Amino acid sequence: MNYNAWFECEKGCTYPLTEIIYRCRNCNGLLEVRHDMDVLKQRSAADWKSLFEQRYMRTEYPYGSGVWGKKEFVCPNIENANIISMYEGGTNLFWAERFGKQLGLADLWIKQCGNSHTGSFKDLGMTVLVSMVKQIISESGNIRAVMCASTGDTSASLAAYASAAGIPAIILLPKEKVTREQLIQPIANGALTLSLETDFDGCMEIVQKLAARKDFYLANSINSLRVEGQKTISIEIVQQFDWEVPDWIIIPGGNLGNVFALGLGFLMMLELGMIDKLPRIACAQAERANPLYRSFQTGFKEFSAITAQSTQATAIQIGNPVSVHRAIRVLQRFDGIVDQATEEELADAAARADRTGLFNCPHTGVALAVLIKMVERKQIQKDDRVIVISTANGLKFPDFKVAYHNVDDQPKPRYLNTPLELEADFENVLKQIDTHLDS
Ligand SMILES: *Cc1c(COP(=O)(O)O)cnc(C)c1O
Ligand SMILES: [Zn+2]
Repeated sequence: MNYNAWFECEKGCTYPLTEIIYRCRNCNGLLEVRHDMDVLKQRSAADWKSLFEQRYMRTEYPYGSGVWGKKEFVCPNIENANIISMYEGGTNLFWAERFGKQLGLADLWIKQCGNSHTGSFKDLGMTVLVSMVKQIISESGNIRAVMCASTGDTSASLAAYASAAGIPAIILLPKEKVTREQLIQPIANGALTLSLETDFDGCMEIVQKLAARKDFYLANSINSLRVEGQKTISIEIVQQFDWEVPDWIIIPGGNLGNVFALGLGFLMMLELGMIDKLPRIACAQAERANPLYRSFQTGFKEFSAITAQSTQATAIQIGNPVSVHRAIRVLQRFDGIVDQATEEELADAAARADRTGLFNCPHTGVALAVLIKMVERKQIQKDDRVIVISTANGLKFPDFKVAYHNVDDQPKPRYLNTPLELEADFENVLKQIDTHLDS
């Protein structure tokens, strides 16, 4: 089959995916990846499903990857020899039975996207982007390095995939706004790491100017190749439910590429007859970085960029999201909503869910806080199937948890738990256990 995909702007100008271009040369609009849907439709929905099932998490390279197992939907133009995959995707869908019960929900699931090579969902998109760069280089394209601005997870992912490909990486990070764990990732992978005295939006401005120099390839989500990989989240979720569509998906949003990606995957499955309805989508923002929430208050009639305030949810501390308009398009199509969480709400929600066996990052905390509010106002019903997208591994954000469970903090947080420091004396240990276990 002649599967094919290309970049296209809203007005219909097209460019090959191997071209180094981020905005349309005629109208300056963002470029999206379009697929030849007629060719994809030549295979039946049932046949696509069984093909994806056959490949899912097996060893045949690269099809065992959650992303490349769906290669025809993602990026058919890359030769397998140029694919850089770390078998991203295939992440656990955690039945949050106990947490759900506490909220009165029977069918609550957490999609653990942080159980991935670099610890966040960013790997899903980065495998596609870096593979395309390898393809371009193999066709003797001129790319000296790949580069991104990041709130910490994009850079970790880019650095890992670039170093696996043997391509130099340049990373721009806002100084002291990423965790130590996130900072050490690109450093360990050998990336040229620049720590700039600004915020993410400031890094983004500089990286876009650098991209005007053609030989640094821009890896931010303005580049729609990443979105193509990320959209497999929705296909994978539905596949994990034997192709049933959930009622609600709650997803934290910063630059808003991931909300857009989530929608794209569902729309593609709908068009190909693989599903017959769409879920509703709730985008969750931190109150201190909430430009989309503000826009939602106006019925999406207005949108203004803001200066994001400092939040524990550092990966979504973004005031001027690059994918805002396409995210709004998705939310309108999916009868979506936007809600927000305060610092206290996100930390309590993460800690509360941790007590039922999870280990949530602060961004997942934002989504969980929004879930709690939606249940309280009965927007979510008790039998609804709800999926919360957990975007990163909690282990990347230990200070978030350490700070929460700090006994010296006042007022004491609701789910505080602290270690008992004891002498190694058996009788005393026994006594302390008896005193504390059921208290
Ligand atoms: C990137 C990221 C987000 C936000 O995704 P966007 O596409 O920028 O909206 C949320 N959580 C984590 C952990 C991230 O790394
Ligand atoms: Zn155009």
